Amino acid sequence: MIGKTHLAGGLATAAGACLLAKPGLGTGMIWVAGCAFGSLLPDIDHKGSTLGQKVKPVSAVIGAVAGHRNFFHWFLPYLILAVILHFAVPQADNITFAVFLGVLSHLFLDALNPSGVPLVPGHRVHLLRIHTGSGVDKAIGGLLYLFACIGVAVWGIRII
Ligand SMILES: [Zn+2]
Repeated sequence: MIGKTHLAGGLATAAGACLLAKPGLGTGMIWVAGCAFGSLLPDIDHKGSTLGQKVKPVSAVIGAVAGHRNFFHWFLPYLILAVILHFAVPQADNITFAVFLGVLSHLFLDALNPSGVPLVPGHRVHLLRIHTGSGVDKAIGGLLYLFACIGVAVWGIRII
């Protein structure tokens, strides 16, 4: 999936979380920002990605060492990191939770493309065969943006 679709997925995930949990404005904004960041984070292993372009030297090194859609697309390291952060920095749980949710949205959307994602080493998950940058990819992104906008608006109205 393209970066815009991943970002839309992260924002839609945050909107869904806000609709379900009904957090206050401050927490909800943290969730939106955290999910947005997390939705782009795994592609730091690709220097041409949305996030990779922002930190190109770092991304180039990570891509050369780890490869694209490899270690940075495994589920377990993110789960372990989230658990460690929960115990080490519990006051940042909202940020950790939001970034983790955003990462999950990224991994799910990448599992929709033909190469899939290696959630665990040596086992790729393919849910569909949607090519990155295709019309279907962009249509999914558009629908996710729509859901995110409506979801955040409804959540906003509810907390006012
Ligand atoms: Zn990816």
